[in-house]
Amino acid sequence: MAKIVRALSDDGAVVVIAEDSTDIAETARLTHDCSRVCTAALGRLLTGASLMGFMLKNVDDSLTLRVNGDGETGAVIAVADAAGNVKGYMMNPHVELPLKPNGKLDVGRAVGNQGTFLVIKDLGLKEPSVGQIPLVSGEIAEDLTSYFAVSEQIPTVCALGVLLDTEGKVGKAGGFIIQLLPTADDTVIDRVEEGIRHLPPITTLLREGLTPLDICKRVLPDFNVEMLDEGEAEYRCDCSRERVERALISSGIDALREMSEDPITEVHCHFCPSVYRFTSKEILDLLKKAK
Ligand SMILES: [Zn+2]
Repeated sequence: MAKIVRALSDDGAVVVIAEDSTDIAETARLTHDCSRVCTAALGRLLTGASLMGFMLKNVDDSLTLRVNGDGETGAVIAVADAAGNVKGYMMNPHVELPLKPNGKLDVGRAVGNQGTFLVIKDLGLKEPSVGQIPLVSGEIAEDLTSYFAVSEQIPTVCALGVLLDTEGKVGKAGGFIIQLLPTADDTVIDRVEEGIRHLPPITTLLREGLTPLDICKRVLPDFNVEMLDEGEAEYRCDCSRERVERALISSGIDALREMSEDPITEVHCHFCPSVYRFTSKEILDLLKKAK
């Protein structure tokens, strides 16, 4: 299980949320048979979504992060609930690219740096709230930081990382989000920036054995940090035959009529290996419920 911790500075000016999402990123890699760079891209987005999910206020809230870049992966999508449980996929999970000159996986090039970054929050209202910004780099953490600054006007520091071992498995994955609360003045911003100036990558901290709470303290060395809450999350798909039926019904009469000509229609879940099969007769039964 992934572990998430939220902590607050004792002056009430800074909140930080940190996660060890190793299990989530590895499950995503196995589920989608991701290449190395795709494991990093999807793992980062899932971690960001999980962190942001954990920040939602109500248990039934959920959010979707969608990166529409011009890179070979095509769109990358992650959906999280308010506990930080998350699922995701990308159009092409098999992209292979050379490493960057600094030896890192070239997530920005795989995803693309031209396009949009969407945050869709379903807060139980009539319409979901949608925030959209232009992609900054396609490296995900920078795009998320920009989203918070531009769309939500919250000064934010975000780091996301996925470290692969030599076999391509996820060795460590995690992330943190630091946000200044409205009470924070300019000196607080300086103290936060100073504290993270020489911070090693999040995956290095995890490899050193730091827990999410340790990371909360480590990224805010100039503050006394107290834990607010903690939780566990996992890669989890909530698809069901009922949901697939509803989706088929909403695809409309024409689409269903066409499907009914095939003896068996197979619907593959985007997020998990589940396959749902419908006979021609079952499709015709759904057609009766469609408008
Ligand atoms: Zn599924």
